[in-house]
Formats: sequence, structure tokens, C-alpha cells
Amino acid sequence: MKIMYNVAATRRILNLPPNAQVKIQIWDKVIWVHVKGKRPTFLSKKLYHDHFAQFRREGAKGVKISFVDGFKAQGVKEVYDLDPQDTHIECGCQDFAFQKEAWGRGCCKHGYALLGMFGYSSLQDYVVSKGG
Ligand SMILES: [Zn+2]
Repeated sequence: MKIMYNVAATRRILNLPPNAQVKIQIWDKVIWVHVKGKRPTFLSKKLYHDHFAQFRREGAKGVKISFVDGFKAQGVKEVYDLDPQDTHIECGCQDFAFQKEAWGRGCCKHGYALLGMFGYSSLQDYVVSKGG
């Protein structure tokens, strides 16, 4: 579950600078977090789950969607093909590939940008609307 619980996400959740020295351990119910120079603490897994979606929703704001032989997502440099399915938005980017490998589905910032264009703020709302 490195894709969900990792040091980069921990830094963002705690508003730490990118160079902050952080160690984490994934426990059964919580994440053990040690920021160098501070006492170890715990963060809930729910915090990471919420952050995971929120971070991608934020990223979606910088994505432009167009339609040329299918939906396209224009990122900073690259253009990705988007393929809306009933249970998720298929995307050609690496973030989506990692999520699909881990969970069989997922939603990247490009997917969230397309969902936003469809009028949905969460993947769950979209899936429910599809009866998926
Ligand atoms: Zn993507």
C-alpha cells in the first residue's frame, strides 16, 4: 500500500517541507510517523485516504480536458487518453497505472478533471450514477 501510505503523502498531510526527514510504519489500524527532531506520533489511515483523493482533486484543477477521437487530458507536458468506464476513468498516466495495479481501478487527477466536467466531485458519486 505504498501508493496510499508513503512519506511524500505524510509530508503533505503534516504541511512539512519536501526535505523534512520522515519515517513511517504501516500498522494495523494507524500509521506510525516519526518526524526527525519530534516525538513519534500516529496518523489515521482515513486521513491518508481523504488526502489521496483530495490531492488528486486539487491537481485536477490544472488539467484541461478536450475531445479529439476520445477524451484527452492535457497536463503540464503530456496529453493522456481518458476512457470512462462504469467503475472508473481509465487513464494513460503512471499514477493511474499504479492504482490499477494495486486495486484494479482508481482515479488520477486527469480522471477527476473529467469527472468534474461530467458534474461529479467524487468517483463514488459517478460509479453510483452508473449503477456500478
Ligand atoms: Zn491520469
